[in-house]
Amino acid sequence: TEAVLEVRGLCVDYGVGANAVRAVTDASLTLHRGEVLGLAGESGSGKSTLAYALTRLLRAPGVISGGEVLFHNRPHGGDPDGVSYAETVDLLAADMVKLRQIRWSQLAVVFQSAMHALNPVARIDAQLTDVLKAHRRQMDAAARRDRAVELLRMVGISADRLRSYPHELSGGMRQRVMIAMALALEPQIVIMDEPTTALDVVTQREILEELMLLRERLGFAIVFITHDLSLLIELADSIAIMYAGRIVERAGADELFHAPRHPYSLGLLNSFPALHGAKVRMEGIPGSPPSLTALPGGCAFHPRCSFAVDRCRTDVPELVLPAAESAQAARLAGDRPDQPRVAACWLQ
Ligand code: ATP
Ligand code: MG
Repeated sequence: TEAVLEVRGLCVDYGVGANAVRAVTDASLTLHRGEVLGLAGESGSGKSTLAYALTRLLRAPGVISGGEVLFHNRPHGGDPDGVSYAETVDLLAADMVKLRQIRWSQLAVVFQSAMHALNPVARIDAQLTDVLKAHRRQMDAAARRDRAVELLRMVGISADRLRSYPHELSGGMRQRVMIAMALALEPQIVIMDEPTTALDVVTQREILEELMLLRERLGFAIVFITHDLSLLIELADSIAIMYAGRIVERAGADELFHAPRHPYSLGLLNSFPALHGAKVRMEGIPGSPPSLTALPGGCAFHPRCSFAVDRCRTDVPELVLPAAESAQAARLAGDRPDQPRVAACWLQ
């Protein structure tokens, strides 16, 4: 299927000049229309930074220092303020007018801090209808209300909750409200950064499963960010693994599960009990991730890697196309270096 979002060579720093640390290094990803792409990696690996950067929601001291994020917009015509023709937009180069047309309407984000993203002094129905009021000017009040009820029902919240304030809802329900708001304008992409501490794994799984069902109905693509690789193995189509700011492997979910190529992916796979792992413990991997101010040379994972050889101290394993994808990619686009890539550690 065709790509809806292509991230190429994205680099993000915190700070500038001598004090800058690189939080995302040369990240490339392709999100296909309607697919679920999972992004996994230990705390601090740069997952949220990547998500904030590609949506241009990154705040100072974060700085995007390189790369492209191509959004292939295929508008479905529901948005009177948006464009009605197909276009490709580099989100990193787009002006604010363009970004406003795209964000929320076409590319919606549910961030890790969803709890704080809701207005604490506004009722749920008002927050939903405000989104519709701002972006769907042809809707009258009754239509907005109907739509708000429908959206909440879609995410499993009954209409009697419409008059609630955020603090009257559980963490899981607030997350569902955020998803309803994200889906209000029928976006082509939903990016969801898992709230790691606020929700238990069972609730998280339920919410992701519901999101998957909605995706089948509405056809949007999902980028789902989580610590829980086992969740992604089950539910995602493809998975990218981040370590110390780099995407070290990208593969289909089955492929990653059955034949991980990077030792870090293998370690992550071994770290997770199948379902009810409450806390993230990297039991399969000794040690902890490096500080960004003192990144090891070569492959940043090498000090923790039981397969490391001399070369790993100086060279970063190249990301290459896996055989199955490379044939398809070559057919589609010639031998472009920006196609979905998978790390092939030279050990395997
Ligand atoms: P988690 O799983 O805990 O959410 P993450 O993978 O989302 O982690 P990020 O929050 O993107 O990781 O952080 C990546 C790196 O950038 C970390 O080393 C973090 O300390 C650093 N970082 C994040 N925000 C800032 C900031 N505002 N200023 C400086 N450094 C930051
Ligand atoms: Mg994060």
